Amino acid sequence: MDLQHWLGRATQAIQDWADTYGPYDTHPSLLVDENHFTAAFGEFTGRLKDNYPFFHPRYAGQMLKPPHPAAVVGYLTAMLINPNNHALDGGPATAAMEREAVAQLAAMFGYDTHLGHLTTSGTIANLEALFVARELHPGRGVAYSADAHYTHGRMCHVLGMKGHPVPTDSQGRIHLDALEELLRTGEVGTVVLTAGTTGLGAIDPVHLALPLARRHGVRVHVDAAYGGFFTLLAGVDGPEGLPPEPWQSIAQADSIVIDPHKHGLQPYGCGAVLFRDPDVGRFYLHDSPYTYFTSSELHLGEISLECSRAGASAAALWLTFQLLPPTREGLGQVLAAGRRAALRWADLITSSSRLELYQQPELDVVTYFPIVAPATLTAVDTASARILADGMTTPDPVFLSTLKADREAFSARHPKITADADSARILRSVLMKPESEHHIDHIHARVEHLTG
Ligand SMILES: *Cc1c(COP(=O)(O)O)cnc(C)c1O
Repeated sequence: MDLQHWLGRATQAIQDWADTYGPYDTHPSLLVDENHFTAAFGEFTGRLKDNYPFFHPRYAGQMLKPPHPAAVVGYLTAMLINPNNHALDGGPATAAMEREAVAQLAAMFGYDTHLGHLTTSGTIANLEALFVARELHPGRGVAYSADAHYTHGRMCHVLGMKGHPVPTDSQGRIHLDALEELLRTGEVGTVVLTAGTTGLGAIDPVHLALPLARRHGVRVHVDAAYGGFFTLLAGVDGPEGLPPEPWQSIAQADSIVIDPHKHGLQPYGCGAVLFRDPDVGRFYLHDSPYTYFTSSELHLGEISLECSRAGASAAALWLTFQLLPPTREGLGQVLAAGRRAALRWADLITSSSRLELYQQPELDVVTYFPIVAPATLTAVDTASARILADGMTTPDPVFLSTLKADREAFSARHPKITADADSARILRSVLMKPESEHHIDHIHARVEHLTG
Protein backbone atom coordinates (compact mmCIF):
# COMPACT_ATOMS: atom_id res chain seq x y z
CA MET A 1 0.00 0.00 0.00
CA ASP A 2 1.40 3.35 -1.08
CA LEU A 3 0.44 5.57 1.83
CA GLN A 4 1.17 8.84 0.00
CA HIS A 5 -1.08 7.81 -2.88
CA TRP A 6 -3.92 6.84 -0.55
CA LEU A 7 -3.65 9.96 1.57
CA GLY A 8 -3.98 11.96 -1.65
CA ARG A 9 -7.07 9.90 -2.57
CA ALA A 10 -8.43 10.46 0.94
CA THR A 11 -8.31 14.26 0.80
CA GLN A 12 -9.71 14.18 -2.75
CA ALA A 13 -12.65 11.95 -1.78
CA ILE A 14 -13.64 14.17 1.14
CA GLN A 15 -13.18 17.33 -0.94
CA ASP A 16 -15.40 15.93 -3.72
CA TRP A 17 -18.11 15.24 -1.16
CA ALA A 18 -17.70 18.65 0.48
CA ASP A 19 -17.95 20.38 -2.89
CA THR A 20 -21.47 19.04 -3.39
CA TYR A 21 -22.58 21.51 -0.69
CA GLY A 22 -21.33 24.54 -2.63
CA PRO A 23 -18.36 26.86 -2.18
CA TYR A 24 -17.61 29.05 0.85
CA ASP A 25 -14.56 30.98 2.09
CA THR A 26 -12.43 30.00 5.04
CA HIS A 27 -12.63 32.67 7.75
CA PRO A 28 -9.53 34.91 7.84
CA SER A 29 -9.03 34.07 11.53
CA LEU A 30 -8.12 30.53 10.51
CA LEU A 31 -5.68 31.39 7.74
CA VAL A 32 -2.01 30.76 8.49
CA ASP A 33 1.05 32.04 6.72
CA GLU A 34 2.72 29.37 4.58
CA ASN A 35 6.25 30.33 5.69
CA HIS A 36 5.21 30.34 9.30
CA PHE A 37 3.71 26.89 8.85
CA THR A 38 6.86 25.62 7.12
CA ALA A 39 8.94 26.76 10.09
CA ALA A 40 6.57 25.26 12.66
CA PHE A 41 6.36 22.00 10.75
CA GLY A 42 10.13 21.81 10.58
CA GLU A 43 10.40 22.20 14.32
CA PHE A 44 7.57 19.74 14.84
CA THR A 45 9.05 16.93 12.74
CA GLY A 46 12.43 17.61 14.33
CA ARG A 47 10.96 17.15 17.79
CA LEU A 48 9.22 13.93 16.78
CA LYS A 49 12.65 12.35 16.25
CA ASP A 50 12.79 12.14 20.03
CA ASN A 51 11.13 8.72 19.90
CA TYR A 52 12.16 5.10 19.91
CA PRO A 53 11.85 3.30 16.53
CA PHE A 54 8.66 1.41 17.41
CA PHE A 55 8.18 0.44 13.74
CA HIS A 56 11.55 -1.30 13.33
CA PRO A 57 12.31 -4.96 14.11
CA ARG A 58 15.21 -3.75 16.27
CA TYR A 59 12.59 -2.34 18.62
CA ALA A 60 11.70 -5.36 20.74
CA GLY A 61 10.53 -3.63 23.90
CA GLN A 62 7.08 -2.56 25.01
CA MET A 63 3.65 -3.16 23.45
CA LEU A 64 4.08 -0.46 20.81
CA LYS A 65 3.98 -0.32 17.03
CA PRO A 66 2.52 2.00 14.38
CA PRO A 67 -0.92 1.29 12.93
CA HIS A 68 -1.44 -0.53 9.63
CA PRO A 69 -1.57 1.82 6.59
CA ALA A 70 -5.25 0.83 6.11
CA ALA A 71 -5.96 2.09 9.63
CA VAL A 72 -4.02 5.30 8.98
CA VAL A 73 -5.98 5.98 5.78
CA GLY A 74 -9.29 5.08 7.45
CA TYR A 75 -8.56 7.29 10.45
CA LEU A 76 -7.32 10.32 8.52
CA THR A 77 -10.07 10.18 5.90
CA ALA A 78 -12.84 10.05 8.49
CA MET A 79 -11.05 12.63 10.65
CA LEU A 80 -11.36 15.17 7.83
CA ILE A 81 -15.10 15.03 8.59
CA ASN A 82 -14.46 14.47 12.34
CA PRO A 83 -17.62 12.54 13.24
CA ASN A 84 -18.43 11.99 16.92
CA ASN A 85 -19.65 8.47 17.64
CA HIS A 86 -21.54 9.25 20.82
CA ALA A 87 -24.73 9.82 18.79
CA LEU A 88 -26.09 8.96 15.37
CA ASP A 89 -26.43 12.70 14.80
CA GLY A 90 -22.69 13.02 15.30
CA GLY A 91 -21.85 10.57 12.53
CA PRO A 92 -24.27 8.02 11.17
CA ALA A 93 -21.73 6.38 8.85
CA THR A 94 -19.02 5.79 11.45
CA ALA A 95 -21.60 4.75 14.08
CA ALA A 96 -22.74 2.02 11.69
CA MET A 97 -19.11 1.05 11.07
CA GLU A 98 -18.56 0.84 14.81
CA ARG A 99 -21.51 -1.52 15.22
CA GLU A 100 -20.24 -3.75 12.41
CA ALA A 101 -16.66 -3.87 13.68
CA VAL A 102 -17.83 -4.56 17.25
CA ALA A 103 -20.06 -7.38 15.93
CA GLN A 104 -16.97 -8.88 14.26
CA LEU A 105 -15.13 -8.76 17.59
CA ALA A 106 -18.07 -10.41 19.36
CA ALA A 107 -18.23 -13.14 16.70
CA MET A 108 -14.48 -13.72 17.05
CA PHE A 109 -15.03 -14.65 20.69
CA GLY A 110 -18.07 -16.79 19.87
CA TYR A 111 -20.66 -14.51 21.51
CA ASP A 112 -24.08 -15.28 20.04
CA THR A 113 -25.62 -12.14 21.54
CA HIS A 114 -23.83 -8.99 22.56
CA LEU A 115 -24.03 -5.36 23.48
CA GLY A 116 -20.77 -3.52 22.96
CA HIS A 117 -18.99 -0.47 21.73
CA LEU A 118 -15.56 0.99 21.23
CA THR A 119 -13.91 3.03 23.96
CA THR A 120 -10.94 5.32 24.16
CA SER A 121 -8.86 2.63 25.86
CA GLY A 122 -8.75 -0.72 27.57
CA THR A 123 -8.80 1.04 30.92
CA ILE A 124 -12.11 2.76 30.16
CA ALA A 125 -13.49 -0.47 28.67
CA ASN A 126 -12.61 -2.32 31.90
CA LEU A 127 -14.12 0.51 33.95
CA GLU A 128 -17.41 -0.01 32.08
CA ALA A 129 -17.33 -3.76 32.73
CA LEU A 130 -16.66 -3.20 36.44
CA PHE A 131 -19.37 -0.53 36.60
CA VAL A 132 -21.91 -3.04 35.27
CA ALA A 133 -20.48 -5.60 37.71
CA ARG A 134 -21.20 -3.22 40.58
CA GLU A 135 -24.76 -2.54 39.40
CA LEU A 136 -25.49 -6.26 39.21
CA HIS A 137 -23.83 -7.19 42.50
CA PRO A 138 -24.01 -4.12 44.73
CA GLY A 139 -21.94 -4.44 47.87
CA ARG A 140 -19.77 -7.23 46.52
CA GLY A 141 -16.16 -6.86 45.41
CA VAL A 142 -13.98 -7.83 42.47
CA ALA A 143 -11.29 -10.52 42.36
CA TYR A 144 -8.35 -10.35 39.93
CA SER A 145 -4.94 -11.93 39.91
CA ALA A 146 -1.94 -10.16 41.34
CA ASP A 147 -0.59 -10.01 37.76
CA ALA A 148 -3.77 -8.40 36.37
CA HIS A 149 -3.46 -4.91 34.91
CA TYR A 150 -2.86 -2.36 37.66
CA THR A 151 -5.87 -0.29 36.58
CA HIS A 152 -8.32 -2.88 37.97
CA GLY A 153 -7.33 -1.89 41.49
CA ARG A 154 -7.50 1.78 40.54
CA MET A 155 -10.98 1.45 39.00
CA CYS A 156 -12.30 -0.53 41.98
CA HIS A 157 -11.27 2.46 44.04
CA VAL A 158 -13.04 4.83 41.63
CA LEU A 159 -16.20 2.73 41.78
CA GLY A 160 -16.10 2.31 45.55
CA MET A 161 -15.76 -1.48 45.25
CA LYS A 162 -13.37 -3.67 47.16
CA GLY A 163 -10.61 -5.17 44.98
CA HIS A 164 -9.21 -8.57 45.97
CA PRO A 165 -5.85 -9.44 44.40
CA VAL A 166 -5.43 -13.23 44.17
CA PRO A 167 -1.93 -14.79 44.14
CA THR A 168 -0.58 -16.23 40.89
CA ASP A 169 0.94 -19.66 40.30
CA SER A 170 4.50 -20.28 39.08
CA GLN A 171 3.43 -19.45 35.50
CA GLY A 172 1.85 -16.10 36.36
CA ARG A 173 -1.76 -17.40 36.17
CA ILE A 174 -4.46 -16.84 38.77
CA HIS A 175 -4.14 -19.43 41.55
CA LEU A 176 -7.36 -21.45 41.47
CA ASP A 177 -7.25 -22.73 45.05
CA ALA A 178 -6.68 -19.21 46.35
CA LEU A 179 -9.52 -17.98 44.14
CA GLU A 180 -11.89 -20.65 45.40
CA GLU A 181 -11.06 -19.84 49.00
CA LEU A 182 -11.86 -16.18 48.35
CA LEU A 183 -15.11 -16.97 46.52
CA ARG A 184 -16.27 -19.04 49.50
CA THR A 185 -16.37 -15.89 51.63
CA GLY A 186 -19.23 -14.55 49.47
CA GLU A 187 -17.57 -11.14 49.32
CA VAL A 188 -16.87 -11.26 45.59
CA GLY A 189 -19.45 -10.55 42.88
CA THR A 190 -17.20 -10.61 39.81
CA VAL A 191 -13.93 -12.32 38.89
CA VAL A 192 -11.65 -10.69 36.36
CA LEU A 193 -9.68 -13.27 34.37
CA THR A 194 -6.82 -12.03 32.22
CA ALA A 195 -6.34 -13.66 28.83
CA GLY A 196 -2.76 -12.53 28.33
CA THR A 197 -1.24 -10.61 31.23
CA THR A 198 0.51 -7.41 30.27
CA GLY A 199 3.82 -8.34 31.91
CA LEU A 200 4.31 -11.99 30.98
CA GLY A 201 1.55 -12.80 28.50
CA ALA A 202 0.18 -15.47 30.85
CA ILE A 203 -3.34 -16.78 30.24
CA ASP A 204 -5.58 -17.35 33.24
CA PRO A 205 -7.34 -20.75 32.98
CA VAL A 206 -10.73 -19.34 31.99
CA HIS A 207 -12.12 -22.86 31.42
CA LEU A 208 -11.35 -23.85 35.02
CA ALA A 209 -12.11 -20.57 36.78
CA LEU A 210 -15.44 -20.07 35.02
CA PRO A 211 -17.25 -23.13 36.45
CA LEU A 212 -15.77 -22.26 39.84
CA ALA A 213 -17.22 -18.77 39.64
CA ARG A 214 -20.59 -20.09 38.48
CA ARG A 215 -20.74 -22.47 41.45
CA HIS A 216 -20.48 -19.45 43.72
CA GLY A 217 -22.91 -17.27 41.77
CA VAL A 218 -20.10 -14.99 40.68
CA ARG A 219 -19.86 -13.16 37.35
CA VAL A 220 -16.85 -13.44 35.05
CA HIS A 221 -15.17 -10.60 33.17
CA VAL A 222 -12.33 -11.48 30.79
CA ASP A 223 -9.69 -8.80 30.35
CA ALA A 224 -8.31 -9.65 26.92
CA ALA A 225 -7.09 -6.10 26.25
CA TYR A 226 -3.69 -7.35 25.17
CA GLY A 227 -4.25 -11.04 24.39
CA GLY A 228 -7.73 -11.11 22.85
CA PHE A 229 -6.79 -11.44 19.21
CA PHE A 230 -4.71 -14.53 20.05
CA THR A 231 -8.02 -16.39 20.20
CA LEU A 232 -7.48 -16.63 16.42
CA LEU A 233 -4.65 -19.09 17.09
CA ALA A 234 -6.65 -21.33 19.45
CA GLY A 235 -6.41 -24.92 18.27
CA VAL A 236 -4.48 -23.99 15.11
CA ASP A 237 -2.16 -26.69 13.74
CA GLY A 238 1.50 -25.80 13.82
CA PRO A 239 3.90 -24.42 16.39
CA GLU A 240 2.00 -21.12 16.76
CA GLY A 241 -1.25 -22.88 17.72
CA LEU A 242 -2.53 -22.32 21.28
CA PRO A 243 -4.33 -24.74 23.62
CA PRO A 244 -7.99 -23.99 22.78
CA GLU A 245 -9.67 -24.51 26.17
CA PRO A 246 -9.30 -21.07 27.81
CA TRP A 247 -10.15 -19.28 24.56
CA GLN A 248 -13.25 -21.37 23.87
CA SER A 249 -14.58 -20.64 27.36
CA ILE A 250 -14.44 -16.89 26.82
CA ALA A 251 -17.75 -17.21 24.91
CA GLN A 252 -19.40 -17.94 28.29
CA ALA A 253 -17.95 -14.90 30.08
CA ASP A 254 -20.32 -12.10 31.04
CA SER A 255 -18.11 -9.43 29.55
CA ILE A 256 -14.90 -9.08 27.55
CA VAL A 257 -12.47 -6.25 26.94
CA ILE A 258 -10.14 -6.14 23.94
CA ASP A 259 -7.83 -3.38 22.73
CA PRO A 260 -7.70 -3.05 18.94
CA HIS A 261 -4.98 -0.45 19.57
CA LYS A 262 -2.70 -3.24 20.80
CA HIS A 263 -2.94 -6.26 18.48
CA GLY A 264 -5.63 -4.97 16.12
CA LEU A 265 -3.25 -2.76 14.07
CA GLN A 266 -5.01 0.44 15.24
CA PRO A 267 -3.75 3.84 16.40
CA TYR A 268 -4.27 4.69 20.08
CA GLY A 269 -7.78 5.56 21.08
CA CYS A 270 -9.37 2.18 20.32
CA GLY A 271 -10.48 -0.18 23.07
CA ALA A 272 -13.69 -2.22 23.16
CA VAL A 273 -16.06 -3.67 25.74
CA LEU A 274 -18.54 -6.46 25.00
CA PHE A 275 -21.37 -7.71 27.22
CA ARG A 276 -23.04 -11.05 26.55
CA ASP A 277 -26.41 -9.88 27.89
CA PRO A 278 -27.61 -6.86 25.86
CA ASP A 279 -29.98 -6.04 28.71
CA VAL A 280 -27.16 -4.45 30.76
CA GLY A 281 -27.71 -1.35 28.60
CA ARG A 282 -30.36 -0.38 31.16
CA PHE A 283 -27.65 0.69 33.62
CA TYR A 284 -26.51 3.58 31.47
CA LEU A 285 -28.56 6.61 32.46
CA HIS A 286 -28.93 8.89 29.50
CA ASP A 287 -31.25 11.83 29.51
CA SER A 288 -29.47 14.29 27.33
CA PRO A 289 -31.35 17.43 26.30
CA TYR A 290 -29.17 18.27 23.32
CA THR A 291 -28.44 15.02 21.52
CA TYR A 292 -30.34 12.03 20.19
CA PHE A 293 -33.04 13.73 18.16
CA THR A 294 -32.94 12.33 14.66
CA SER A 295 -33.65 8.71 15.33
CA SER A 296 -35.34 6.37 17.74
CA GLU A 297 -32.56 3.82 17.06
CA LEU A 298 -30.03 3.15 19.80
CA HIS A 299 -27.24 5.70 19.93
CA LEU A 300 -23.80 4.51 21.03
CA GLY A 301 -23.68 7.26 23.65
CA GLU A 302 -26.65 5.66 25.35
CA ILE A 303 -24.61 2.57 26.15
CA SER A 304 -21.24 4.03 27.05
CA LEU A 305 -19.83 6.00 29.97
CA GLU A 306 -17.90 8.30 27.67
CA CYS A 307 -19.66 10.96 25.60
CA SER A 308 -17.55 12.25 22.68
CA ARG A 309 -15.47 9.62 20.89
CA ALA A 310 -13.61 9.72 17.58
CA GLY A 311 -15.72 8.29 14.79
CA ALA A 312 -12.36 8.06 13.03
CA SER A 313 -11.37 5.21 15.38
CA ALA A 314 -14.34 3.17 14.21
CA ALA A 315 -13.59 4.07 10.59
CA ALA A 316 -9.99 2.91 10.95
CA LEU A 317 -10.99 -0.39 12.54
CA TRP A 318 -13.75 -1.01 10.00
CA LEU A 319 -11.47 -0.35 7.01
CA THR A 320 -8.70 -2.50 8.49
CA PHE A 321 -11.15 -5.37 9.05
CA GLN A 322 -12.23 -5.20 5.38
CA LEU A 323 -8.66 -6.13 4.45
CA LEU A 324 -7.41 -8.05 7.47
CA PRO A 325 -10.54 -9.39 9.19
CA PRO A 326 -10.35 -10.92 12.69
CA THR A 327 -10.11 -14.45 11.29
CA ARG A 328 -7.36 -17.07 11.20
CA GLU A 329 -6.59 -16.30 7.56
CA GLY A 330 -6.65 -12.53 8.12
CA LEU A 331 -5.30 -10.96 11.29
CA GLY A 332 -4.48 -14.46 12.59
CA GLN A 333 -1.50 -14.61 10.23
CA VAL A 334 -0.07 -11.43 11.78
CA LEU A 335 -0.35 -12.85 15.30
CA ALA A 336 1.03 -16.21 14.21
CA ALA A 337 4.25 -14.58 12.99
CA GLY A 338 4.81 -12.82 16.32
CA ARG A 339 4.08 -16.03 18.17
CA ARG A 340 6.60 -17.97 16.03
CA ALA A 341 9.17 -15.24 16.69
CA ALA A 342 8.64 -15.65 20.44
CA LEU A 343 8.99 -19.43 20.24
CA ARG A 344 12.13 -19.16 18.11
CA TRP A 345 13.72 -16.72 20.53
CA ALA A 346 12.76 -18.86 23.50
CA ASP A 347 14.60 -21.79 21.83
CA LEU A 348 17.66 -19.66 21.17
CA ILE A 349 17.71 -18.43 24.77
CA THR A 350 17.25 -21.95 26.12
CA SER A 351 20.41 -23.11 24.33
CA SER A 352 22.35 -19.94 25.16
CA SER A 353 25.14 -19.89 27.74
CA ARG A 354 24.67 -16.15 28.32
CA LEU A 355 20.91 -15.77 28.68
CA GLU A 356 18.21 -17.66 30.54
CA LEU A 357 14.45 -17.72 29.96
CA TYR A 358 12.41 -16.33 32.84
CA GLN A 359 9.47 -18.46 31.73
CA GLN A 360 8.31 -20.11 28.51
CA PRO A 361 6.25 -17.55 26.51
CA GLU A 362 2.54 -18.37 26.19
CA LEU A 363 1.92 -15.59 23.63
CA ASP A 364 4.42 -13.17 22.08
CA VAL A 365 6.04 -11.75 25.22
CA VAL A 366 9.53 -13.13 25.88
CA THR A 367 11.02 -12.66 29.36
CA TYR A 368 14.66 -13.49 30.06
CA PHE A 369 17.70 -12.41 32.03
CA PRO A 370 21.47 -12.49 31.71
CA ILE A 371 23.34 -15.36 33.37
CA VAL A 372 25.50 -13.66 36.02
CA ALA A 373 28.10 -14.50 38.64
CA PRO A 374 27.43 -14.38 41.50
CA ALA A 375 23.98 -15.74 40.71
CA THR A 376 21.96 -13.30 42.80
CA LEU A 377 18.89 -11.14 42.23
CA THR A 378 20.99 -8.03 42.72
CA ALA A 379 23.39 -9.07 39.97
CA VAL A 380 20.53 -9.99 37.61
CA ASP A 381 18.92 -6.61 38.26
CA THR A 382 22.10 -4.64 37.61
CA ALA A 383 23.00 -6.56 34.47
CA SER A 384 19.46 -6.32 33.01
CA ALA A 385 19.36 -2.57 33.54
CA ARG A 386 22.79 -2.18 31.98
CA ILE A 387 21.82 -4.25 28.88
CA LEU A 388 18.65 -2.19 28.46
CA ALA A 389 20.65 1.05 28.52
CA ASP A 390 23.61 -0.18 26.44
CA GLY A 391 21.28 -1.72 23.85
CA MET A 392 19.90 1.68 22.92
CA THR A 393 23.24 3.43 22.52
CA THR A 394 25.47 0.86 20.80
CA PRO A 395 25.90 0.91 17.02
CA ASP A 396 23.34 -1.55 15.58
CA PRO A 397 21.07 -0.87 18.59
CA VAL A 398 18.31 -3.02 20.08
CA PHE A 399 15.48 -1.64 22.16
CA LEU A 400 14.22 -3.85 24.97
CA SER A 401 12.18 -3.30 28.10
CA THR A 402 12.50 -4.44 31.70
CA LEU A 403 9.99 -6.06 34.01
CA LYS A 404 10.20 -6.04 37.80
CA ALA A 405 9.95 -9.60 39.11
CA ASP A 406 9.46 -9.88 42.84
CA ARG A 407 11.42 -12.27 45.00
CA GLU A 408 8.70 -14.93 45.39
CA ALA A 409 7.83 -14.97 41.69
CA PHE A 410 11.50 -15.20 40.71
CA SER A 411 12.33 -17.93 43.21
CA ALA A 412 9.32 -20.01 42.15
CA ARG A 413 10.83 -20.20 38.68
CA HIS A 414 14.57 -20.08 39.44
CA PRO A 415 15.26 -21.40 42.95
CA LYS A 416 19.02 -21.58 42.26
CA ILE A 417 19.39 -17.80 42.03
CA THR A 418 20.07 -16.40 45.48
CA ALA A 419 17.19 -14.15 46.51
CA ASP A 420 19.26 -11.37 48.11
CA ALA A 421 16.77 -8.60 47.26
CA ASP A 422 13.01 -7.99 47.24
CA SER A 423 12.89 -7.92 43.46
CA ALA A 424 14.96 -7.85 40.29
CA ARG A 425 14.48 -6.29 36.89
CA ILE A 426 14.54 -8.84 34.09
CA LEU A 427 14.44 -8.23 30.34
CA ARG A 428 11.16 -8.31 28.42
CA SER A 429 10.45 -8.16 24.70
CA VAL A 430 6.99 -7.96 23.14
CA LEU A 431 7.32 -9.36 19.61
CA MET A 432 4.11 -7.89 18.21
CA LYS A 433 5.43 -6.96 14.79
CA PRO A 434 5.27 -9.88 12.35
CA GLU A 435 8.62 -8.73 10.92
CA SER A 436 10.25 -9.84 14.18
CA GLU A 437 10.01 -13.37 12.86
CA HIS A 438 12.70 -12.65 10.30
CA HIS A 439 15.00 -10.66 12.58
CA ILE A 440 14.97 -12.64 15.79
CA ASP A 441 18.29 -14.42 15.24
CA HIS A 442 20.01 -11.07 14.84
CA ILE A 443 18.24 -9.55 17.86
CA HIS A 444 19.30 -12.57 19.90
CA ALA A 445 22.91 -12.24 18.75
CA ARG A 446 22.90 -8.55 19.68
CA VAL A 447 21.50 -9.20 23.17
CA GLU A 448 23.96 -12.03 23.75
CA HIS A 449 26.76 -9.70 22.72
CA LEU A 450 25.51 -7.05 25.16
CA THR A 451 25.87 -9.47 28.09
CA GLY A 452 29.61 -8.68 27.77
C1 LIG B 1 -3.05 -2.64 28.14
C2 LIG B 1 -3.92 -3.34 29.08
C3 LIG B 1 -4.92 -2.69 29.79
C4 LIG B 1 -5.10 -1.20 29.72
O1 LIG B 1 -5.45 -0.81 28.43
P1 LIG B 1 -5.12 0.68 27.91
O2 LIG B 1 -5.64 0.64 26.52
O3 LIG B 1 -3.64 0.86 28.00
O4 LIG B 1 -5.85 1.64 28.78
C5 LIG B 1 -5.75 -3.43 30.61
N1 LIG B 1 -5.57 -4.77 30.72
C6 LIG B 1 -4.60 -5.43 30.08
C7 LIG B 1 -4.45 -6.91 30.26
C8 LIG B 1 -3.73 -4.74 29.23
O5 LIG B 1 -2.74 -5.41 28.61
